[in-house]
Amino acid sequence: MAQQQGQERQGQFAGRVAVITGGARGQGRSHAVELARQGADIAVVDRCADLATVTYPLATPDDLTETARLVEAEGGRCVTGQADVRDLGAMIAFVDGVVEELGSVDILVANAGVSTMCSIFDLDADGWSETLDTNLTGVFNALRAAAPHMRRQRWGRMVTVSSMMGRSSNPLISAYCASKWGVIGLTKSVAQEMAHSNVTVNAIAPGNISTDMIHNDTLYRLMRPDLEQPGADDVAGVMASLHVQPVPWLEAEEITSALVFLCSEGARHITGSVIDVDAGASARFTA
Ligand code: NAD
Repeated sequence: MAQQQGQERQGQFAGRVAVITGGARGQGRSHAVELARQGADIAVVDRCADLATVTYPLATPDDLTETARLVEAEGGRCVTGQADVRDLGAMIAFVDGVVEELGSVDILVANAGVSTMCSIFDLDADGWSETLDTNLTGVFNALRAAAPHMRRQRWGRMVTVSSMMGRSSNPLISAYCASKWGVIGLTKSVAQEMAHSNVTVNAIAPGNISTDMIHNDTLYRLMRPDLEQPGADDVAGVMASLHVQPVPWLEAEEITSALVFLCSEGARHITGSVIDVDAGASARFTA
């Protein structure tokens, strides 16, 4: 763990500590930097190593260091840890360590996840498990690690990250869909358990977000099997067809805006909800 003392903090989250899983890059990094900009101290945990059944590279230790640098540039203290969200003991140890070093855990963002695409005829036990264990059990592990601290503090904001695929479905993405549907059920149940402790628990369901999870050769090739070396421009049309607004992908900062709202005092009576940030995709499938 690395920690640096920051200067006096301003902003709506001054005095708060946010723990973010999978924050070495992508959406998690965006959340870390913005929460720090608005006054929070930050703790980021990430695996920082690839997974055998995930066909694109995950974050690296350098990515994690860069997130810490950006947080500290905003004046926030930043604790970092390399650990796998699939390991409950490691998550409890990380969160307990954060409380010891930074004083509390007020905001938990259960963001770490992997995207896997595979036909039901090819999906094997390892592929199924790495997706479910990361995307669903990993969220449980993070909530489980933070829950006792938030109950004791009688204040907390838990935000889980589902997906538009957690409220709909597509072919070739069964493990991912199952994990992200599961995140919503988990979120709603835990919201009821935490309601008497002044802790809210909500999910965000993003559409296509412009991160390494979607910008990689494997996904490009799956989307455009007719091309030898498809690039971002070649897949933009397919990506846009998943949304209603005519945009292929959104920026990570747009998910951060929803996160900041859910963590604000104004959202204190929103719990057990799902916020869709998906360029209108959910208009097709939710009431
Ligand atoms: P990303 O790949 O850039 O970030 C995911 C991060 O999680 C990486 O830093 C990775 O190293 C980390 N991670 C993966 N497995 C881990 C594990 N077992 N333990 C610890 N860390 C692990 O992608 P992103 O877009 O920033 O994804 C963030 C979340 O948003 C994920 O839950 C993802 O499923 C969800 N999401 C993404 C999109 C999208 O289009 N990018 C859409 C909907 C939902």
